[in-house]
Amino acid sequence: MPNGSAVDRVDALTAAARPGLVDTHCHIDVSEFAADYGQVLQRARAAGVNRFVVPGVDRGGWPRLLALCRKEAGCHPALGLHPLYLPLHRPAHLEELGKMAARPEVVAIGEVGLDFWDNPEALVRQRQEALFEQQVRIAKGLGLPLLLHARKAHDQVQAIVRRLHFPYGGIVHAFSGSRQQALIWLELGFLIGIGGTITYGRANRVRALAAELPLPGLVLETDAPDIPPAAHRQERNSPEYLPEIVHCLAQLRSDSPDRIAVETTRNAVRLLNRRVPGLAH
Ligand SMILES: [Zn+2]
Repeated sequence: MPNGSAVDRVDALTAAARPGLVDTHCHIDVSEFAADYGQVLQRARAAGVNRFVVPGVDRGGWPRLLALCRKEAGCHPALGLHPLYLPLHRPAHLEELGKMAARPEVVAIGEVGLDFWDNPEALVRQRQEALFEQQVRIAKGLGLPLLLHARKAHDQVQAIVRRLHFPYGGIVHAFSGSRQQALIWLELGFLIGIGGTITYGRANRVRALAAELPLPGLVLETDAPDIPPAAHRQERNSPEYLPEIVHCLAQLRSDSPDRIAVETTRNAVRLLNRRVPGLAH
């Protein structure tokens, strides 16, 4: 379809007429969506979600991720080497990260961090820490924020961010730490990613934090295809369910879904628009 066609203009007008949600963590590039990601994104846009941050997890996946983001409106790539895929990463991938993440469309370094959930042995911890530290240095060199994955490792991730005086902030994705750790993240200039976990009644701590943390410190995410909201448990998670997280967050905070939508979008845009003029308010 040629540029500037009627359909394009209608889409642009519709997007401008409402705030539009940002799914700040959405693995739409993975095999679970290979058959229908175009339709999934279309349904998400129809539901009011029009921007998607797509984080990379290993070098092998970056080209497909970048190609998808070039093709699909509103998809913004982040590149990174995920701690859980440690055996796939090579020193050369860090060098390539520095080069590929310098492209103007890349909005963040991620998904990066530490995962000590399974109590990995000391050598694995050290290798995760070295990998993370090098990626924080790359992000600092490029002036990009970080998309962080931290499980049972918030103190260690915070220590590295502090020691390197990392100034560009980022998003702590699928936050599962303590209140104290959340407050330190906010102090360090990071935002807390709120996703499907808050829709589960038993997730007391995360729900309490989502209710009480200051709204300027929160952004929304689905982590699709993982962590489906309670109404879709056992299903593949999808960015089209993001409005359900807005409604749940509004209920927990006794606030209006509209205000939650506008403010969290503003927070995400403020963080990510340093490198993407198209993301300006
Ligand atoms: Zn992820």
